[in-house]
Amino acid sequence: MPKLALLSAPGGPIELADFPLTAPAPGTAALKLRMAGICGSDLHIFRGELPLPCPFAMGHEMVCEIAELGEGLSTDATGQPLAVGDRVVTPYFWFCGQCHACVRGRSHACQNLMAGEYRTHEHEPHFVAAHGEYYYTSRRQPLYKVPEGLTDEAVAPLNCALAQVLFALRDVRLGDTVVIQGAGGLGINAAAVARTAGAAAVVVIDKINERLDVAADFGATECIDASGMSTHEVTERVRQHTDGIGADWVLEVVGVPGVIPEGIGFLNNGGTLLEVGNVGIGRTFQLDPSALVYGNKSVRGVMFYDPVTLAIGLSFLQHTDFPFERLMPKPFRLAEVNDAFASADAGLVPRGALVP
Ligand SMILES: [Zn+2]
Ligand SMILES: [Zn+2]
Repeated sequence: MPKLALLSAPGGPIELADFPLTAPAPGTAALKLRMAGICGSDLHIFRGELPLPCPFAMGHEMVCEIAELGEGLSTDATGQPLAVGDRVVTPYFWFCGQCHACVRGRSHACQNLMAGEYRTHEHEPHFVAAHGEYYYTSRRQPLYKVPEGLTDEAVAPLNCALAQVLFALRDVRLGDTVVIQGAGGLGINAAAVARTAGAAAVVVIDKINERLDVAADFGATECIDASGMSTHEVTERVRQHTDGIGADWVLEVVGVPGVIPEGIGFLNNGGTLLEVGNVGIGRTFQLDPSALVYGNKSVRGVMFYDPVTLAIGLSFLQHTDFPFERLMPKPFRLAEVNDAFASADAGLVPRGALVP
């Protein structure tokens, strides 16, 4: 029987459980996994930083191929016909379409996320997460067909990392300056997106040189290794590369609360810090709020994205030539999922990858 990875308890181990395949419900699809990513959120869940019940089905970032189409599902969200074997991507979440936020065009801020279709591995169709051999969509998850010529390594991070930063950076304009705190999978994708959007400067900050090396190949115009540097020194370096005034945008993708005040210090007057990385709950930081008031600075929380971002992301992957394969250097087999998490947790690769 096909397998699904379940976190047995915070900190692990992750165990592979067998579940039977079922026929997909009308309007849904049974997908066969091709490659999954291990995202920062997966690591937060693995460490027990999110209040989720164990055993918990792991993973949400993936590229799959169609194993079986449910009744009535014959095209993707853009009208392209679908057939068994086609590669597809899909958002890992869905919106209600009816709440205050949804009807005002802010569905990414839906108040009834996953409404009516909350799923657990305990009930059919069982395969409700990415770290398994199969994944079943719900009726509200649109599919987007993957064009030929794109590698699984390039596409696997699209439905989380790449789409998240595409959506977070959607207001970046030609000539803006962007600072990215953290050169993990999100940060490296963000550098490529910001540069392609026409940012005049893309400054990436991390404390691991190997990750900055990768960022340099993804559109960063300046990489700062902050290990051994004071906040003052890092801020000075940022100013040197942002016309002496600081950045229009700072994207926080370290996932550590303490870097937020530093990030606000990198902004110019009117600039905005995009807070994406801190999905762990219950951790705090100290801030003198006058740091926001003086200079009209903002902090914007960003989570989820408009599903059409996946179509934009596929086009982005087709029409840029960043070395996306470098992001997923060493896929682990699903059977080695614990080794894969240990490697990703150590932070030495931008993103862990799993293949069946
Ligand atoms: Zn993710
Ligand atoms: Zn809603």
